[in-house]
Amino acid sequence: MKTYPYGHKQDIKNLTAEELGQKVASFGEPAYRTGQLLSWLYQKGMVDFDRMTNLSNSLKIKLQAEYYIGALELAGRLVSKDKTEKYLFKLEDGSFVESVLIKTARRRTVCLSTQVGCKFGCLFCASGKGGFVRNLTPSEITGQLLYLKDNLKISITNVVLMGMGEPLDNYANSIKAIKIINSPQGLKIAARRITISTCGIIPGIRKLKNEGLQVNLSLSLHAANDVLRDKLMPVNKKYKLKEIIKELEIYFKKTKRKITLEYILFKDLNDSSKDAEELARVAGRLKAKINLIKYHKISGITCRPAGKEEIDRFMKRLQNAGADVTLRVSKGVDINGACGQLAGKIKK
Ligand code: SF4
Repeated sequence: MKTYPYGHKQDIKNLTAEELGQKVASFGEPAYRTGQLLSWLYQKGMVDFDRMTNLSNSLKIKLQAEYYIGALELAGRLVSKDKTEKYLFKLEDGSFVESVLIKTARRRTVCLSTQVGCKFGCLFCASGKGGFVRNLTPSEITGQLLYLKDNLKISITNVVLMGMGEPLDNYANSIKAIKIINSPQGLKIAARRITISTCGIIPGIRKLKNEGLQVNLSLSLHAANDVLRDKLMPVNKKYKLKEIIKELEIYFKKTKRKITLEYILFKDLNDSSKDAEELARVAGRLKAKINLIKYHKISGITCRPAGKEEIDRFMKRLQNAGADVTLRVSKGVDINGACGQLAGKIKK
């Protein structure tokens, strides 16, 4: 694991509650110290071992010898007319990642990035344009949420792993981050309020069903046949839709958790009646919910948004086919709400 810039020291926030407990035990300290330490790190937002007043001096010395406390640096913030907020964070190696905060009357949802850039190059996405740089550590994933909670005093109700990057392509670190976010001693966010959004990484879906986590899984589908999906999402050449659907059926059987299919509507690409029928068939097979998403033009990307008429017609078709469908209102359009746009600009 990367230790920059603290030499041999590790970021303590890369450990789950369980791993931290094992470490505390290996130091010969009583088990209750783990709870105290977790409370300082995740509830009080402390970034200095010396100021953890209820820890013994011996434990502080041992911790300081092996660990540092990672924290992200805010590099930019944009606020949309609709109150959506976009945060740009600078990482220890000088890379940038984005998080988006969406506020509604009842929820404050944060979209967290899991990688710097992305390998999968979807035709419509800004994150894929700059290529892949590296995986985020668990601490860098949770750090985005912690910054909002500790520095800006925003209490987050829901978490979505769908910012920059593909969470299941950074499987181990994404799962560790989820465990910390979900832990009653960590960030205390219920698993049912945490969503993983994937483009269809089959080995990741396969592993996830055995984690025993009650999180939500959402598939970025965007095309319900292989020919079109190959074109829109090159990852489909590796993980074919037929195989993804088979894997999701097994996932649903095992976890009993309803899957969501995300479908962005692009003009003259995936918005025909045939597309709607195919989508309804996939959703029916998976007993999944469909989330239709309005696209907003991103400069340098050729995909165009479907118009209101096409969206209404598409939605009607799905409803007539008996699909459980909602239209997601796009947020943060005026602040480059789509993932990767702001980080891409900074990089340039
Ligand atoms: S949509 Fe997701 S998987 Fe596709 S390029 Fe963007 S971040 Fe990567």
